[in-house]
Amino acid sequence: MHHFRYTGPNLHCESVDLAEVARLYGTPTYVYSAATMADNVTRLQRGLDGLDVQICYAMKANSNIAVLRHFANLGAAFDLVSGGELRRVLVAGADVKRSVFAGVGKTEAEIKLALENEIFSFHVESEPELARLNHVAGKLGVKAPIAIRINPDVDAHTHAKITTGKSDNKFGIPLKFAAAAYEAAAKYPNLLLKGVQMHIGSQLTEIGPFVEAVEKVAPLAAELKTKFGITYFSVGGGIGIVYKDALASGPQSWWDEQPAGSRPITPEVYGAALVPLLQPLGLKILLEPGRFMVGNAGVLLARVEHLKRGAGKNFLIVDAAMNDLVRPAMYDSYHEIVPLHRDSSRRALVADVVGPICESGDCFAKDRQLQDLGEGELLAFMSAGAYGYAMASRYNSRAMPAEVLVRGSAFELINARESFEQMIAGEKIPAFLK
Ligand SMILES: *Cc1c(COP(=O)(O)O)cnc(C)c1O
Repeated sequence: MHHFRYTGPNLHCESVDLAEVARLYGTPTYVYSAATMADNVTRLQRGLDGLDVQICYAMKANSNIAVLRHFANLGAAFDLVSGGELRRVLVAGADVKRSVFAGVGKTEAEIKLALENEIFSFHVESEPELARLNHVAGKLGVKAPIAIRINPDVDAHTHAKITTGKSDNKFGIPLKFAAAAYEAAAKYPNLLLKGVQMHIGSQLTEIGPFVEAVEKVAPLAAELKTKFGITYFSVGGGIGIVYKDALASGPQSWWDEQPAGSRPITPEVYGAALVPLLQPLGLKILLEPGRFMVGNAGVLLARVEHLKRGAGKNFLIVDAAMNDLVRPAMYDSYHEIVPLHRDSSRRALVADVVGPICESGDCFAKDRQLQDLGEGELLAFMSAGAYGYAMASRYNSRAMPAEVLVRGSAFELINARESFEQMIAGEKIPAFLK
């Protein structure tokens, strides 16, 4: 569910006309709905009722500090993966002490920063990392709280680039080595064994792999609780969102109409399947949702530059490109594309929707059925709140796009479009070329 709707012919985010946002702040611009994010938190908490849950929003999905503050106000903590992300949590005025630090290659400086800010726990990916954590904690005279990431060898049935829980992925320690890894960890004087963690992949659309993974890891969690007194089990993130029927999936009624079996995962389905498996453990349960929290809460606004009619093929050239939203180029992913002003009297248009970048990969959609659109008209890429701005780059010396947050009828710029001066601020011509 989300808060993007047509009111009359115009697409709105909550009570804000998106054309008004584009007029004020230009395009390409990301727009986020605060209400959708809040709903996502509430539904997840309700779905997991009966468990002692700590939501650690996986902030790599969207790390704008206003988004972080919003989630912090809603009671969430964070799953962070770098020193930069940790510093964003601090700038947002949010809580590092309830947040967790993941990632396969944490540097000594990042570990020190996290320990100084009393991170809730480190999610450890390898045995050498245990030694490094012990070393840095020893130097600071503190104990490093840890959980080891277990790779349950479950196929998440998602895109190969976002599957993480198979034995041939770089993540975690295989289940069969887990007991030995915890024995090894227990021998380090400066480590505190606090939990166990898993995360099998992203954009999961079936509940089966989650159930399979939890069933595999739960007995280990129980054993570790008895043996080392661990207090939490993090079941990771990965809940998928709707991309194909993104606009239609706004109201609850759409979800009610989906035939059982083909309905995407909801927090209710997720909770109903996992609560009975997790409750008997008597452990705190950490969740690390990223995409689910923000994906359907954001759109990317763009403007049509040209409609280029080719031989047997039309190209709708827009002012957003793969540098702004890389998911279609990187993961072959689908984003629904809708006009900001809907006009049912117009002819249909079938076109490839492309950006201006000099790469054939700079293509958002092939042979997409759209309403006929012309130069200067506005459109929105739906479901762009997760891994959108966060993965944006300056390729082709294009400035980073703007970001806007909506709540009710209020909206504000939460990240100004980058200026040319900001883009080149770190660059200089060396003396030997002068
Ligand atoms: C990326 C990641 C997440 C979030 O994944 P989503 O699919 O966005 O929910 C959670 N936990 C870990 C360890 C991750 O790397």
